[in-house]
Amino acid sequence: MASSELMQPVSRRRFIGATGIALGLGALPGAMRAALAEDTWDLIVIGGGTAGLPTALFAAERARVLVIEKAPLLGGTLDRSTGQIAAAGTVFQDAKGIEDTPDAHYDDIMRINEHTSDPALTRLFVDNAADALNWLAANGYSVEPTHPVTGMGHEHFRIARYQWGPQGGWSIFKALEPLIDKAVDEGRLTILTNTSAADLIIDAGGAVAGVVATDAAGKRLDLRARNVVLATGGCASNPHMFEELHGVPLYCQIAHPNSQGIGITLGLSAGGTVRGGDKYAPLLGAILANDYYPSPPAAIPPLNPSLRLPWELLVNSDGERFVREDEPSIDHMETLLARQPGHRHWAIFDAEILDKAPPLVPNWDQQQVRDASNRQPKFYAAGNIGELAVRAGVNPRKLRATVEAYNQARATGKPDPLGLEHRPLPIAKPPFYAIQMQGWTLISFAGLDVDTNLQVLNGDGTPVPNLYAVGEVIGAGATSGQAYTNGMLVTPAITFGRLLGRQILNFG
Ligand SMILES: Cc1cc2nc3c(=O)[nH]c(=O)nc-3n(C[C@H](O)[C@H](O)[C@H](O)COP(=O)(O)OP(=O)(O)OC[C@H]3O[C@@H](n4cnc5c(N)ncnc54)[C@H](O)[C@@H]3O)c2cc1C
Repeated sequence: MASSELMQPVSRRRFIGATGIALGLGALPGAMRAALAEDTWDLIVIGGGTAGLPTALFAAERARVLVIEKAPLLGGTLDRSTGQIAAAGTVFQDAKGIEDTPDAHYDDIMRINEHTSDPALTRLFVDNAADALNWLAANGYSVEPTHPVTGMGHEHFRIARYQWGPQGGWSIFKALEPLIDKAVDEGRLTILTNTSAADLIIDAGGAVAGVVATDAAGKRLDLRARNVVLATGGCASNPHMFEELHGVPLYCQIAHPNSQGIGITLGLSAGGTVRGGDKYAPLLGAILANDYYPSPPAAIPPLNPSLRLPWELLVNSDGERFVREDEPSIDHMETLLARQPGHRHWAIFDAEILDKAPPLVPNWDQQQVRDASNRQPKFYAAGNIGELAVRAGVNPRKLRATVEAYNQARATGKPDPLGLEHRPLPIAKPPFYAIQMQGWTLISFAGLDVDTNLQVLNGDGTPVPNLYAVGEVIGAGATSGQAYTNGMLVTPAITFGRLLGRQILNFG
């Protein structure tokens, strides 16, 4: 069965109990809805994405499993994720003769995030990640021919253990898809698409006993289960929840539209607690399309010096430089950006740099930058630095001083006070330009507190009976820490989902 069939109306030959189903709750005939309402599942997985699918696949080998998925199609964030994943001891490393250990992986993760991820979950992860990736590989997942690598875009590992498929996250889904189809066809797995979890059923003793589901028309169906796994993703498409949990606005929105944080709300309703919002870390600036948050990105400039050496100065709203523009550590650049007002910064340059430097705005030529200046949000130009600063919203007196100091040090061959080595041109030839960039993210750092059984914990650290959480709903802070640690969302989502379904859940 192809995955496109997952949204087809029910086939007459498919009956609940006789075989798995994969269709929308709203499309079910009344008799089937009634049968569902009478049933008690061993497990209901809420969310058929990166973490929910491996959870369900493995659990379905030993129990009766129902997945409810809000979207018409499975896959969740795998439809847009870069799918960069990392593990130590994989077949991909073996093929290249790369020696690696979980201990080395653990040390590298903790070095990059400065020991801010959960130590117990990080340990559980590194000890099981290679098995998860090797399982994907055994099911047809392949990676770019030059991989594994030490890094790309974020702070590099010391050992090459980082890889992704030719279609990014979708390469992972393509490996999962035949397994899902088979489990559904064999009646081991039941999937309801276009079906949202709206609430949890909680018994008088506080134990989770099922899920209240609604179809696209809002019609309710109570589904009973011995175990419930929250795998609904993060909250990086819910600006209000995001800001409440992180204390930072959701500046940019490119997460999956269903990353609304419903799993967090459901977990809290059962007594769970949230942690990790304080671990928020901004990525180096995106050029936002407009002034209203969350805004889509207009462009993501290559500020990482390993991708493009800087020709421009980066300043904060005070008109002051805050970072060595060719700083080799991306994580250090991001840490310094996090200390700037509003996580904003401006690239400052002149007419000659615009002409001679490789494009700062990907896929834009010089004329597009000229045309956008003073016409499109975030792009400014002026005949002198003071006027430019006022237009861009930067302190003019300090920006003038910053540019003069840079030009003077460069002309006299003095070392740059911040250590910048790549200083090809002065900023001297009008018109002068400023592009405003915004520190941003695409994930949520806050999430439900869980133990190493992935069981949701209440305020005093006691597990909420029958309730588990996996994937971004446990928060990037738990696995990635206060940093963008390579692959520390997709890989734990798959690794923990597999562990949960395969061995942690006890179906007695
Ligand atoms: C553009 C982008 C690039 C990224 N690149 C990387 C990367 O390279 N490496 C990395 O480690 N991380 C990356 N991430 C993060 C990573 O992809 C996600 O953290 C991870 O995929 C989330 O997995 P998940 O299973 O928790 O959520 P998802 O994969 O989003 O699955 C959640 C599912 O739950 C469903 N759902 C939501 N609410 C309900 C409800 N009420 N009822 C039923 N179903 C519901 C959703 O529709 C969805 O299918 C990236 C994120 C983005 C946005």
